[in-house]
Amino acid sequence: MTIGVLALQGDFAEHLQTLETLSIVTREVRMPEDLTMIDGLIIPGGESTTMANLLDVFSLRDPLKQAIRAGLPVWGTCAGMILLANKLEQDRPTPLGAMDITVTRNAFGRQLESFSTELIIEQLGDNNSLHATFIRAPIITKVGPGVDILASLPNKKIVAAKQNNILATAFHPELTADTRMHEYFLSFIKN
Ligand code: GLN
Repeated sequence: MTIGVLALQGDFAEHLQTLETLSIVTREVRMPEDLTMIDGLIIPGGESTTMANLLDVFSLRDPLKQAIRAGLPVWGTCAGMILLANKLEQDRPTPLGAMDITVTRNAFGRQLESFSTELIIEQLGDNNSLHATFIRAPIITKVGPGVDILASLPNKKIVAAKQNNILATAFHPELTADTRMHEYFLSFIKN
């Protein structure tokens, strides 16, 4: 199994490192051809407008949309989640429209640009909470009928969801030593 990480911008190196600690073969994805050599793809956190521009510059947008539509397992963290959405509350960037969610960017405003909190995510298979790091994070404001909500904050804001082959988290599991979220993504690829 080879897992690709979109390596145009953002914290792709941290995802690669986490995958490597799990002894997973990885590939940095920058060209359309890279998409044919992977069994799953992570879209990292970063700046979604920059990443969207680079998707167009590198002619990756359409091949990536097609690969996801054909069933490629994909996980977006933070800016990655923004890119996967069907719809954004903001005008920019133009997302991939891969997942039936509406997302608002920078949902925590200036007062709370970065914070961390404990989340219980049942799908991780134990009752231990996950220490979740949010950095100028988005939230999911609406989900379509085919979307499972995996985690919400106490104020009911949705911060993790899954739809078929697509996983989205508003936070950054690659920035902590806890590898359970990566293992969860790998487990649904294997199934
Ligand atoms: N605020 C960023 C954006 O809108 C996302 C931040 C992140 O990925 N940590 O693209």
